[in-house]
Amino acid sequence: MEKESINQVPPPFLVSYSITTKCNLMCKHCYSESVDQAAPDELSTEEAFRLMDDLSKWEISLLVIDGGEPLCREDMLDVVKYASSKGLRTTLGSNGTLIDEAMQASSQSLYRLTELMLKPMTHLGV
Ligand code: SF4
Repeated sequence: MEKESINQVPPPFLVSYSITTKCNLMCKHCYSESVDQAAPDELSTEEAFRLMDDLSKWEISLLVIDGGEPLCREDMLDVVKYASSKGLRTTLGSNGTLIDEAMQASSQSLYRLTELMLKPMTHLGV
C-alpha cells in the first residue's frame, strides 16, 4: 500500500486477517466455513510479513488473526512475532487445541494469549 493512499483512508479500529482456511476441528456451527486443508491462494510467510508492514503503516489499533485455525500454519509464531515487532497489537482467534508447552515457551506474547484461550471448549463437541 502506498503511503499516499494510506493517508487518504482513515484506519479501521480492527482488522481481521483470516490467515488460513484449514482447521483441525469440524464444528457444525463453524462461522468461517473452515476445511481440512489450506486454501491454495493463502498468503505466503513473506506476503503475510508485507501485509503486517502495510497494516503497521496504516496504524490500525488491533489485528485479529484467525481462520480456520491459525495455529495450523507452521509459520504462525513467526507472523505473530513479526506483527509485534512492527508495533501491531495482535490477538489470535484460536480454538486453543494446538497449543502445547513448547509453543507457549517460544513466545511470551503467545503465552499471554494462551491464558485468554484456555476456555475454548465451546468450539468442541458441538
Ligand atoms: S474451531 Fe473455529 S474455525 Fe475451527 S471448525 Fe470450529 S468454529 Fe470453525
